[in-house]
Amino acid sequence: MNIRKFTVDSDEQVVVKVLREVLDLYRIAVSDEDAAFDEIAVRNETTEGNPLHVRTEAVFVGADGSTRTCSMESVARVGENPRSERHRLIKWNFYELLRAELDLPEAPWGILYGVRPSKIVHRWLDGGASREEVVARLRAEFGVGEDKAALLVDSSLYQRPFLQQSDSKTVSIYAGIPFCPSRCLYCSFPAFVLPGEKMLRRFTEVFFRDLAAVRQAVEQYGFRVQNIYVGGGTPTSLPDEVFDEVLRSLYDAFFSDALVEFCVEAGRPDSMTPAKLESMVRCHVNRVSANPQTMQARTLRRIGRRHEPEDIVRMYKDLRSAGIPCINMDVIIGLPGEDARDVEDTMKKIADLAPDDVTLHALALKKGSRLKENLSETELPDDATAREMFTAAMDAAKRMGLTPYYLYRQGYQSGQLENVGCCRPGAESMYNIQIMGERQTILGIGGAATSKIVSPTQKYLKTSFHPKEITVYLDKIDYYMEKRNRLLHEVYGEQEAF
Ligand code: SF4
Repeated sequence: MNIRKFTVDSDEQVVVKVLREVLDLYRIAVSDEDAAFDEIAVRNETTEGNPLHVRTEAVFVGADGSTRTCSMESVARVGENPRSERHRLIKWNFYELLRAELDLPEAPWGILYGVRPSKIVHRWLDGGASREEVVARLRAEFGVGEDKAALLVDSSLYQRPFLQQSDSKTVSIYAGIPFCPSRCLYCSFPAFVLPGEKMLRRFTEVFFRDLAAVRQAVEQYGFRVQNIYVGGGTPTSLPDEVFDEVLRSLYDAFFSDALVEFCVEAGRPDSMTPAKLESMVRCHVNRVSANPQTMQARTLRRIGRRHEPEDIVRMYKDLRSAGIPCINMDVIIGLPGEDARDVEDTMKKIADLAPDDVTLHALALKKGSRLKENLSETELPDDATAREMFTAAMDAAKRMGLTPYYLYRQGYQSGQLENVGCCRPGAESMYNIQIMGERQTILGIGGAATSKIVSPTQKYLKTSFHPKEITVYLDKIDYYMEKRNRLLHEVYGEQEAF
């Protein structure tokens, strides 16, 4: 649906943002084309106090000039941050008014927004709330659908024993190799087609300096490295000898008895070689993410992958024969031209391989992807179809004996769905649990890597982003290493250093 004008009686960016998020939930765009309303105008009035109240008024001006005004008042929860509560109430009021006026169904996740919805659940569980109380709060305060609330709370409960295996000295390492053999149609990651030898040599020189600085910090602060995750891009797109050098450096710098997981993303079978398998085995890599996304040959071609489903099967079998203990497979639901039968067929082919972990992703149509720029929306399943396909994939994962254990969301996801990691017992990815929980420091090395430095009390975290643009990473590495060091010093302080 289109509306000609959307006005808000505030220039507070966050207020405008949360109200626009409500429009996005129902794909309501501001445009002159076939506008159903001339204007929707929103006014908010906050009454400070304990608890705080927010009254929201929405005026709907029809294309025929008719006007309807409706309003709603809500009260903040005691004990929550008043600023966040004000924004939640503004959003909640408008969500309820819009739904009533346009007779809209509940959105699957209600007004809950953000990549890591499990964080709020963990906070409530930390405060002593029971499973049922948390589900009820998600329903009442954010309008989260019953099935989503149950999925979120159950997967969060699953994670708690794993999160508790980390203390203020336990960290993970993320190594970003931002290269791929070719660029997928839907990709919005900072991934570059593998450069020539000279540029690659420059990248590795800088990468090893970056790694040495993190190793020094690990020693200085007495950290224990729990997980190493090599992602990208596709790290296995590196030439064999460079890949081996990268893995050995990570192993030499961070491997110890404390290491739980050493994971490598090997997303593309066209990048895997026997020599890389040998390097992984030699360096005790114990988890590989082999990501088919789909087992449909025509879709693989459509999304710009240069391999066939049989290549994925071959890579999987090679990884198993090499003795890699845990293999994860990623699937994307909602790829162009696919329907429920394609998803069922993909899941059946994946079930035949019996991976330890399957991550189901709902396609995210992000800015910066060629898919967003080049695709007519008619090639994509509508929201209802995407949800049916996702349910079918989840059912297939459960039939494989896999349990959902972590979940995250992205903007613009097909069917307003989520990404869900499902595994067999004992095959949980500790790194994925820690990165979603944001309760453990993650030190990022390499292209587009992010460092998240969590305070010892877990009360706050500071973030340092390495640049997405590869040439900026290479030219300005000293600045970014210095920034990461400064944040480490601010958070852990001199008294924490050995
Ligand atoms: S393999 Fe992943 S990172 Fe590489 S181009 Fe495809 S989607 Fe992007």
